[in-house]
Amino acid sequence: MSNSSFFISELRSHFPILNQTVNDFPLVYLDNAATTQKPLAVVDAISHYYLNDNANVHRASHQLSNRATTSFEAVRTAVQQFINAKSSKEIIWTKGTTEGINLLANVLASQLQRGDQVIISAMEHHANIVPWQMLVKSHGIVLKVIPLSADCCLDLEAYQALLNEKTKLVSITHISNALGVINPVKEIIKLAHQVDAQVIIDGAQAVAHLTVDVQDLDCDYYVFSAHKLFAPTGVGVLYGKQDLLEKLPPWQGGGEMIKSVSFKETTYNELPFKFEAGTPNIAGVIGLGAALDFIKGYDHERLKAHEQSLLHFTEKALSAIPEVTLFCAGVKKSGAISFTIKGESAADIAMLLDAQGIAVRSGSHCAMPLMSELNCNGTVRVSFAIYNTLEEAQRFIEALKKLLQMLQ
Ligand code: PMP
Repeated sequence: MSNSSFFISELRSHFPILNQTVNDFPLVYLDNAATTQKPLAVVDAISHYYLNDNANVHRASHQLSNRATTSFEAVRTAVQQFINAKSSKEIIWTKGTTEGINLLANVLASQLQRGDQVIISAMEHHANIVPWQMLVKSHGIVLKVIPLSADCCLDLEAYQALLNEKTKLVSITHISNALGVINPVKEIIKLAHQVDAQVIIDGAQAVAHLTVDVQDLDCDYYVFSAHKLFAPTGVGVLYGKQDLLEKLPPWQGGGEMIKSVSFKETTYNELPFKFEAGTPNIAGVIGLGAALDFIKGYDHERLKAHEQSLLHFTEKALSAIPEVTLFCAGVKKSGAISFTIKGESAADIAMLLDAQGIAVRSGSHCAMPLMSELNCNGTVRVSFAIYNTLEEAQRFIEALKKLLQMLQ
């Protein structure tokens, strides 16, 4: 066994779910952009918390609550370090990327006036489209969209032409979930700041594949979901620059987000609690901490190189199949590849792959406007994670070729 396959097989052994057959074939899980599998350490951390420490956080002065609070808050610091935020006060817990963007749209609305402009892109997930469309209706903001260029990237010239003194916000995905394309967010942020617009980066697809440094990017806000990073569902992170978060009103009201409540006047808690009304997903946050510890145990550059080799192999093999139309071939990508098959529906291809034990995603990938821009109803998306192997990528290609022969 080569050094590199030993490395991946050791890593993979932490994900027992991958060791199963589906439709009598060994499972090949290539739907990681939808959600990743969880290593044993994450499952163990959650069960350890429920078996030993379960109590509400921040509220009581008994042992269990203290233990739960200590573990819970340690994860906030771990996330701060993971994305290189300046302070743990800048890390707000949410349910996921969707909630993070909705939270921002709701609280930033207080700073927007009728006619102010918000810019998104043609590559956005519905979670980064619909909350802004709601503000178009409720606050009269104007929503502008950066189109795709001929080479399947964001058209940066068109973006620059959209920016003006009316632009208050730019909200862009770091990596497209449907195409895998990596956007030049650092440049996008720099250009937005030249007109004093704030920038939100949707990092849902990026955190598991890139090294994210929010200070280096200089983004104002960064959101992601824990479940795409080997951690549980129902937990997400909203990063915001402290001075900006301080100026924003709270979103939901309730316990935890207040300093004092009376029928005359209620005062709000400080950061990060101001944005965290109600009991949080304590077990989920603790699971995220275990996922971050797990990833830290591996050489990040080596993991990225491994994922890139899977992507390159698959893209090259797909481009050699005459029936395949690849989207954004050759463009800098991470995590995912999208394609269609001439004359076949994406859903049928995904179903026939599943019959051979291969899990991929088909459809619009919650990016219907992007599908219209690409002139298709949906694509087949294969998406990789650190535990996928070259043998799995080869099996996927063989299974695809086999089903194409069958369909002839
Ligand atoms: N944005 C992007 C780019 C995504 O890939 C996803 C998940 N597919 C989301 C937002 C929404 O994430 P969640 O459903 O975890 O809130």
